[in-house]
Amino acid sequence: MNASTIAAIATPPGHGGIGIVRLSGPQSLDIALSVFRIKRNAPFSDVDGKGSPGSFVPQSRYLYYGVVVDPDSLHIIDEALFTVMRAPHSYTGEDVVEIQSHAGPVALARILGAVLRKGAQPAGPGEFTRRAFLNGRIDLTQAEAVADLISARSEKAAEIAAVQVSGKLKRVIQALQATLHDMLTYIEAAIDFPDEVGQEIDPDTIAFRIDRELVQKLKSLMLSADQLRCLRDGIKMIIIGAPNVGKSSLMNRLLEKERAIVTDIPGTTRDFIEDAFLMNGMPVVVTDTAGIHETVDPVEQIGIDKAWAHISGADILLLTMDVGRAADAAAMGLFEKLSDTRKQIIVVLNKTDLPVDRQVFHLPGSWSENPKVEVVRVSALHNQGVAELKSLIAEMVIRSSVVREDGILINLRHKSCMETALGALENARHGLAQNMPFELIAIDLYAARDALSEITGESAKEDILDSIFSTFCIGK
Ligand code: GDP
Repeated sequence: MNASTIAAIATPPGHGGIGIVRLSGPQSLDIALSVFRIKRNAPFSDVDGKGSPGSFVPQSRYLYYGVVVDPDSLHIIDEALFTVMRAPHSYTGEDVVEIQSHAGPVALARILGAVLRKGAQPAGPGEFTRRAFLNGRIDLTQAEAVADLISARSEKAAEIAAVQVSGKLKRVIQALQATLHDMLTYIEAAIDFPDEVGQEIDPDTIAFRIDRELVQKLKSLMLSADQLRCLRDGIKMIIIGAPNVGKSSLMNRLLEKERAIVTDIPGTTRDFIEDAFLMNGMPVVVTDTAGIHETVDPVEQIGIDKAWAHISGADILLLTMDVGRAADAAAMGLFEKLSDTRKQIIVVLNKTDLPVDRQVFHLPGSWSENPKVEVVRVSALHNQGVAELKSLIAEMVIRSSVVREDGILINLRHKSCMETALGALENARHGLAQNMPFELIAIDLYAARDALSEITGESAKEDILDSIFSTFCIGK
C-alpha cells in the first residue's frame, strides 16, 4: 500500500454542473476534512468510534453537504458534497475522498490547491487506476479497459470495453494459468520422483493436453484480435491510385466536406490527409495518399514510399481508377502489388460522368475474379455512386466487426504476450515429441506461464506499466 496521498481534479476541464476533486491514500480523509466544513444540521455519525466528541467522522460511502474553505484564510471556496470510501472498498483500494463542487475551473483549482497545501501530492496520469492495479483491485487487462472505455470512439467499442472492465479476459487467462500450473505440478513430481511418477507420465498425453487445453484456446482468442482492433481504433481505409484519377475529390465526397485539395496538376497530394467519419457507430479513418506512379521527383517519391508503408496498416484499400484512362502496365502492376497484401480492395471506377466513348477503361478479368475485390462506379465530381460506395464500406465494416461472442477484447500487447506463450508451448510440444527430459519441458511451460502473467500484469515490468498508465488522463 502506498504511503503517500494523491489528489487531482477528476472531471474534465471547463465549465460544468459538477466537478470532482479526488484524493486517495492514507491521509485523504484527514486532509479533506481539514478543508471541509459540514453543515451543522446535517446528520453525521461516529461509526468508527474514533472521533472525539464534536468531531466529524463521516461514514464510508455516505454523502455529506457542506462547504470547502481555504485552510489559511478560512474563506469559503464553494459549496460541496463530500464522500469518503474507506479502504479497501474503494476504486484504488485505499481511503478515497471525493469532493463535488461546482465545475468552474477556478473553483476546482482552488479546492485542489487547498488539499495540496494540506499535504496531498498531485496525482500523475492514471495514478488512481495504477494504485487500484498495485493494490490488486483490478488486473492490467481491466486497467487497460478503463482507458479504452474513456477513449472509446464508438458505441460498440465502449460496450466491449465495459465488459472487459468487469474482468472477462482476466478470468480466461487465469483459467489457462491454472491449467499450466496443474501440468507443471505433474511434471515436477516426475522430475523429483522419477521412479514413482516418472514412469507413469506419457509425453503424448501431455502434448495432447498442451494442444487442446492451451494452444487451441490461445489461438481462438487471438483469431479476431484484428477485427476487435478495428472497433477500438476504427476501420482504416486508404485511397490509392495514379495521380489525377480523383482521389482527393473522392476523399472530400466520403467526408462530405472539402478536406483535400483538388487540382488538375498531377502529384499535388504529396503528404497524407487523414480524417474520419462515423459509419454504423464505427469510426472510419480515411487517408488520401500521394498518387502512386513512377517518378523522378525525390519529394514525390518520399510520399509514394510513405503510401506503401500506410497500406500495410490499412483494413480496406480503395483503388481509384479514372475510367477515361485504359488500364496500362502501371495500373496492372499496382493492382498486383495491392492484391499481394491480401487486404480487402474496393476498385472505385471514377469519372463515370465522362461521355461513354471516352470511357476506355475495361475491368481486367484478373481483377473481377479476385474474391477480395469489389467494384463500384462513381462520379466524385457529381457525387454519383458515392452512396453505393458508402453502403459497401458499411457492409464491410459490419462484416469485420463480428465481435467475439464472449465480448473479449484483445489488444496488441495481449496479442504479443499470447504469441510468446504460444511459441513456448510449441517448443514444449516439440520437446515432448523428441522425448526431451522433463526439466527442459518445464522450462518452456514456465516461459508460457510468465508470458500469460504479463497479460494480467502479475509479471509486467515497470516500463510496461509506465507506458500503459501514461496514456491515462490525470484524475483517472
Ligand atoms: P487526385 O490527384 O487523384 O487526388 O485527383 P483530384 O481529386 O485532385 O482530381 C483531379 C482532376 O480530376 C480534377 O480536375 C478534378 O476536378 C477531376 N475529377 C475528379 N473526379 C472527377 C469525376 O468524377 N469526373 C470528372 N469528369 N472529373 C473528375
